[in-house]
Amino acid sequence: MAELECSIGLEIHVELKTASKIFCSCKNEFGALPNTNVCPICLGLPGTLPVLNSRVCDFAVKMGHALGCRINNVSRMERKNYFYPDLPKAYQISQSEIPICGNGSLDIIVDGEVKRVGIDRIHIEEDAGKLIHDDGFDGTLCDYNRCGVPLIEIVTDPDLHSSREAYVFLETVRSILRYIDISDCKMQEGSIRCDVNVSVHEKGTPLGERCELKNVNSFSGAVRGIEYEIKRQTDIIASGGLVERETRRWDDKKGVSTIMRSKEELQDYRFFPEPDLGAVVISSERVEELRSEIPELPNRKMIRYVKEHGMNCDEAFVIADSPDKAALYDDCISLGRCRPRSVANRILGEVTKFMNDTGRSIADTPLTAQALCELCEAAENGIISSTGAKRVFAELVSSGGNTADIIERLGLAQNSDEEFLSDIADKVITDNEKSVRDYQNGKSNALGYLVGQSMKLSKGKADPAKLRSILENKLKKEN
Ligand code: ADP
Ligand code: ZN
Ligand code: MG
Repeated sequence: MAELECSIGLEIHVELKTASKIFCSCKNEFGALPNTNVCPICLGLPGTLPVLNSRVCDFAVKMGHALGCRINNVSRMERKNYFYPDLPKAYQISQSEIPICGNGSLDIIVDGEVKRVGIDRIHIEEDAGKLIHDDGFDGTLCDYNRCGVPLIEIVTDPDLHSSREAYVFLETVRSILRYIDISDCKMQEGSIRCDVNVSVHEKGTPLGERCELKNVNSFSGAVRGIEYEIKRQTDIIASGGLVERETRRWDDKKGVSTIMRSKEELQDYRFFPEPDLGAVVISSERVEELRSEIPELPNRKMIRYVKEHGMNCDEAFVIADSPDKAALYDDCISLGRCRPRSVANRILGEVTKFMNDTGRSIADTPLTAQALCELCEAAENGIISSTGAKRVFAELVSSGGNTADIIERLGLAQNSDEEFLSDIADKVITDNEKSVRDYQNGKSNALGYLVGQSMKLSKGKADPAKLRSILENKLKKEN
């Protein structure tokens, strides 16, 4: 059998963090008491009219810019009809024919290589309610708070060819969403959910028939689902069978996918234009205004850190993934005072540890880029030890201030540090046997030479008087 290749396309649903829902003024909030954030519009009562929240379009256009999409100044809302108890209207208002954003692409970095993934479209739609199966209750409970929560759906081309690429793609999308600040990205609250399409085919032949996996609730679940599906389809092909177009449910606990709908049962959503809403119009001026709000994105930063600053991919990811760390890093570099490597090490070390331990961001501490650079400089020049640097850092994030003052106040400068001076004296004594012998044979001016050597070794930072007395004591003991 020829070598098999898999193709993966993702449909990613992202809840947007607008204040209110997409077609009514109900609060868009997670965790409220069931059925308290509802009104006749999002409950789909007859005779009500939806009104589109323009923030939703702004957010979608921003994501469109981030993914290099074409933005459609005029797009259209459509009804997607299906009957299910989480949808009180029995249709979802979505976009099909003309989405707000068309073709784009995203560059991701997979194991050091830049890979371009096509984006088919981004459209806006409303979320459905949540069905709750409670152990103590023999039936299904409906919570409609989530009805009408605004979503964007990002649809990729089938350009991903391994579970690893899919994982990195999802991570990159999440990172971008954080940068442009349009979603909470709380996986555990379902802010990002995805459907995964997988097919397997022989290299050099057209793509195979695909299966769509539903109920994928985490990025790691997506990886497991894809691996399972590749294996299942490969086995079918290897035994001479044909993979059927299916919708399958992924059970992450059991680690298996089971059939939900076969090809014959595929749903016909009977899309048609939403008669209660006009066209979605966004002016070119507004589109450009939104473009100017897009910062340098994390995937671009990563490429820059790897190519220009010599970081490895993992390091670049840890810094670029966090807008907070990346801002601190970039600010330090633009001050141009210390080596990029020293700054990177502080951020990968102390800064990351501080953020993980406290759950706080650097932006709400008094630490400034200036102070961090001074800390790096002091450490680079051997003015403070690595333990000293950690103490200065702790001081800077708790009380702020000036690095030099803190070093002084806490007595961390190595020039008055006994241990530091003693180490230097030891080294000079070992390296200068002849002068040591001269001194011990009564040539007292040999001491001056040893002090000079020690000062040189400390790069001029040691206190000469203190050094002299430490050397004297050591030489007496040796005698
Ligand atoms: P439909 O219109 O039937 O929903 P789309 O063409 O919009 O299908 O594709 C839906 C998703 O399935 C996209 O993410 C796309 O990349 C993916 N997809 C399409 N064909 C394949 C295939 N042969 N293998 C894997 N994924 C595919
Ligand atoms: Zn409402
Ligand atoms: Mg489609």
